Order: sequence, then C-alpha cells, then structure tokens
Amino acid sequence: MTQSRSASHALGPEQTFGFSTSQVHAGEQVDSGHGARINPIYLSAGFVFDDFDEARARFAGEDDGYMYTRVANPTNAAVERRIAALEHGAGALVVGSGQAAVSVALLSLLRAGDHVLSARRIYEGTRGLLRENFERFGIEVDFVDDANDPDEWRRRIRPQTRVLFGESIANPRNEILDIELVARLGAERGIPLVIDNTLATPYLVRPIEHGAAVVVHSASKFLAGHGASLGGVIVDSGSFDWVGHGLFEHLTRPDAAGGGKSYAQAYGPDAYLAYARHVIAARLGPALSPLHAFLLEQGIETLSLRVERHSANALAVARWLQTRPEVDHVDYAGLESNQGHQLAQRYLAHGFGSVFSFSLKGGQDAAATFIDALQLFSRMTHLGDVRSLAIHAATTSHAHLSGRERDELGIDDGLVRLSVGIEDADDLIRDLQRALTAVADLASDDLVAPHRDHLAATL
Ligand SMILES: *Cc1c(COP(=O)(O)O)cnc(C)c1O
Repeated sequence: MTQSRSASHALGPEQTFGFSTSQVHAGEQVDSGHGARINPIYLSAGFVFDDFDEARARFAGEDDGYMYTRVANPTNAAVERRIAALEHGAGALVVGSGQAAVSVALLSLLRAGDHVLSARRIYEGTRGLLRENFERFGIEVDFVDDANDPDEWRRRIRPQTRVLFGESIANPRNEILDIELVARLGAERGIPLVIDNTLATPYLVRPIEHGAAVVVHSASKFLAGHGASLGGVIVDSGSFDWVGHGLFEHLTRPDAAGGGKSYAQAYGPDAYLAYARHVIAARLGPALSPLHAFLLEQGIETLSLRVERHSANALAVARWLQTRPEVDHVDYAGLESNQGHQLAQRYLAHGFGSVFSFSLKGGQDAAATFIDALQLFSRMTHLGDVRSLAIHAATTSHAHLSGRERDELGIDDGLVRLSVGIEDADDLIRDLQRALTAVADLASDDLVAPHRDHLAATL
C-alpha cells in the first residue's frame, strides 16, 4: 500500500483487501497538511472558498470541495468511505443516529401516496416510525407476518409499493431474513430492498452481495461499539436501476438545481445517495458531528475482533440458557435447534451475532426477579456495546403495544433481550446463574406455602 501523501485515497473501496485490513485502512486519506496518521477531526461548520468563482462553482456542483458540514465534512467523508468499503457498497452517508439513517434512507424514496412493505418483526423504533410518523405523511405501510414467505410478499406488493424493508438479523428475537429471496421479488418489479444491518454488521453479512439496494445501520451499536456515541449510516449499493421501471420520478425528472439535469443524469448509479445527501439529509438536517464520526471510526477499526468475541460469548450463553429449567425457550439462530439455523449458516460468515432473546417460564414476575438480580449485565435499552446488557421487552420497548400486538411479534411476558458483550463468558454465565437462581427461589417460595398447608392438613 502506498504511503505517499499525494495519494488521496490510500486504499479505496475498489481494492480487495480482507475485512480486517479494510476496517483499519479503507478510504483513508493521509493528511496533506501535517501528515497526521489518524483521520483529523475537522470540527468546522463551514469551509472557506478561495475566491468568488470557487464559491459559485461549488454551489453549482462543478467542484466537489466542501461547503458546509450539514452536507459533507472531510472527517465524516473518511468514515463514509470506510463503511461503504466494508459493506461492498458504492458510497455512504453518515447521519446523527440510526433512526435518522432509516428516516433519510426511506424518505429519499417515498412521497405521499406511496406504499412501504416491511417485515413485521423489526426494531420497534422503526416500526413506530413507519406506522405512526410515515402514516401521517400519507405514506401507507404494511407488515409481512412471515418475512421468509415469498407468497406473502408477492400478495402484499401493490402498484404503489416503492420500498421493501427488513432486518438481516431481526431485533429482538434474532430471526434471520432470506435477503436474496426478498431482494429478487423486489427487483422483478423495480422495487429496492432496504436492509437494516445493525445487528449483523458487515463482518457477519453484507446484504448488498445478496441483492439489497440500500443498507442502513444504527452506528450507535456494534460499529461504534462502546456505548458512547450515536450515529447512523446509509450505504448505497450503486447497482440498483432507478430509471428502468419509472417508479422514482424524483430521481429522473429534470432538476433546476442540477442545471436542468435529473439526479439520474447527473449522478448515474449514485443518484439515490446524491438525492439523500443533498435534498433529504441536508434539508431535514440530521447531521453527524465530526467528533462523533471520529469516535465511530475508532470503533470500526476493531469491529471484526469485537463481533467475533461477542458472537462466541453469545453462543456460549445461549447454549447454557437452553439447559436451564427456568427457561422456556431461547431465540438464537446459532443454536442447532433454532428454526433459522440453516439460513443463519447460509448468510452469516463468522458467528451469529450477540443480540437475542429468551423467555422465562414464570412470566413477568420471573422476569422482574431476574432483571433485578443481575449484577454484571446492565439494565439498559441499548445493544452492541462491549458491555453486556439486558432488558424486559414487554414493560419497556414494547410496553405501548396491545397484548395482541405483542403476541404477533412474539413478545411474551417472560421475554428478556440480551446484548452479550465481550467480557469473559464464564463471568457472564455466573451472573445469569445468580439471576436464574433468584427466579427458582421465587418459584419454590410460591410452592412452599400451599405445600405446607397440605402437610398440616394431613398431619
Ligand atoms: C438501535 C437501532 C436503531 C435506531 O438507532 P439509534 O442509533 O438508536 O437511533 C435502528 N435499527 C436497529 C435494528 C437498532 O437496533
């Protein structure tokens, strides 16, 4: 690899290094001013134009230098190149959170009257965004009950459908999506598949290789990895045909700001990402601070190491939980007994992730006892942190739903979601053991009283 300062991209997405090399080097740009080895934090709202004509040219899009950080920033751009390389995409856009990434990714495709078809079992924040916020914009939303049933997707696609949406590994029950199957159904009709790859990360699966048009992440989770900062990213495959089926008029109609050219004419296969950056993100304004982009980049440099350890720990924890009498079921695709295990083996390269759920036989009382007895696991609504976390879904993330809706999502009263961290697996299991023992004690306390009465009656 060249170390030359004049080499603007020491390692671009076009080069084929392994994942671990790419996570450290892809898209890097050696600082031409001082030779700083680490991507500098350009904490500057705006960028100076050398002269009158440069300002004009930059606004006209004739010169690709920086103008204002809400649109683009050199620190952020380096992180965008790196994530695009890791996902095998053509380009990326970083924004302030995962919710912002999902919002910008979808609003760059949709307008009032359009229809979104999504897997039903997805991150609850995204489901709320689609069901409540998007419905108020006049965007219709439907949910597919069995995300791996091609007939159900086919049956529910309408003439107005403009996006298919799903998660590679679904939150919170670790269901694996057959990405290729859904992507193919969309492609036949010119409809892009947008995949939220937060729980898998590009180390485990790259949805673009399986036909996804766009990938989004909550970068607050595994990518940043340390539970300190929020961020989101949209990755464009650069290979979706936005023109052929005539479904995306905003990308193909002549645009005054583009000198009469459409986004498709001006940006070719990158039309979608350009529109997302210049029209949706720039106007709605969810910019990522360069300071947080820097933290995100620091996290990404160890992604494969962490995800490998996260996954190994999660498998050990899931196997152990499965043997416990207090546990009704464990939802982890890494277990041979899980119905998604074959799909998981087909799609996931180096492990099965570390966010999954399990259910306690004793329902909500058992869950309350369990959660309160944890000492090493943090009681928290977050995931992908180096620390292990636990949360009771029915009384937190899914509390606002009706009992029937929770049933449809498979969220029962005993369900606990874990995000297994990178600590020593033995310590994690000891903590879970202490909490399950408290659950068992609770159950035997319940048994003791009637049992005693029975004894008294027979004496
Ligand atoms: C957390 C999460 C989001 C939202 O991300 P934020 O960074 O918290 O806004 C979206 N999708 C999935 C799958 C998530 O886990």
